[in-house]
Amino acid sequence: MSAKIIDGNAIARLVRAEWRERVRALHEAGVTPGLAVIVVGDNPASHVYVRHKTRACADLGMHSEKHEFRDDAAEHEVVRRIAQLNADARIHGILVQLPLPPHFDARRVLEAIHVEKDVDGFNLYNVGALVAGQTVFPPCTPFGVLCMLEYSRIPIAGQNVVVVGASNIVGKPMAMMLMKRDATVSICHVKTRDLAQYTILADILVVAAGKPDLITAPMVRTGAVVIDVGINRLPDGRLVGDVDFEGVKAKASHITPVPGGVGPMTVTMLLVNTIQAAERHAGLAVRAASDLVPGFA
Ligand code: NAP
Repeated sequence: MSAKIIDGNAIARLVRAEWRERVRALHEAGVTPGLAVIVVGDNPASHVYVRHKTRACADLGMHSEKHEFRDDAAEHEVVRRIAQLNADARIHGILVQLPLPPHFDARRVLEAIHVEKDVDGFNLYNVGALVAGQTVFPPCTPFGVLCMLEYSRIPIAGQNVVVVGASNIVGKPMAMMLMKRDATVSICHVKTRDLAQYTILADILVVAAGKPDLITAPMVRTGAVVIDVGINRLPDGRLVGDVDFEGVKAKASHITPVPGGVGPMTVTMLLVNTIQAAERHAGLAVRAASDLVPGFA
């Protein structure tokens, strides 16, 4: 068997084409969706991600602005800027690029973002709403994974799903979203004993650990769907995921590549969340996430 490749770039193009129309409708109502991105320090990867995000906004006809702070900026300066952006009617979504420097309390910074502009979905209210099944802004990476499964017509209800990685940004919300769609979900983390005994049971395996080659072919059930969220830069400069792509491709039914898999979807879902925030702000009919991913509350 050679797995079908789930092409994140192709799916992202389809989703963006659809949402470009929504932006046009907003323009007609006199509104340009606006995203503010805050980046602290000079982490090169963060600057690359921010560039992708601002370019994607321009591509869809959205306004975006970057607010840069030096590595040694004080937390209160960033929080003050967030307060200004909360009050700025041109801005519908605010995103703080993580990680923040170690002297920041990331939780306190994220809490400063107004719930209705929290397009990353990391504010505690939005996290709680996700757990209660009343999502305001679904966190972008797991939302992107769900959208990829949906566009690839992969059933979720009743499936055994294993999520490797339990971070607040990817693993935990991913598990909640899949549970909401009636999957039976196991979550594995660094202290999981014998990871393979879980992964081998997965109909759908989502891997977000940040460890190259963590998942090899013997750990994967024949015919499984494998979603690789990991992004790792190897010493030779290559970008790889957490899955041994060539080995696992021979066994899985579907697999996402790195790069070109989940990454482009994450950026796309950020645009979707920001457009929805603008629609809500403008009092237009909000297109619910459930329209994009049926069954998603
Ligand atoms: P993170 O905060 O470092 O979390 C990693 C998670 O994986 C933790 O829960 C950790 O367990 C678990 N883990 C680490 N090593 C493991 C092992 N050997 N076996 C089982 N579990 C293990 O990372 P993150 O922010 O979730 O990101 C994960 C990966 O996804 C990274 O490579 C990141 O670059 C990538 N990512 C990609 C996108 C995208 O758009 N494609 C978006 C976000 C993140 P503990 O909880 O026990 O420590």
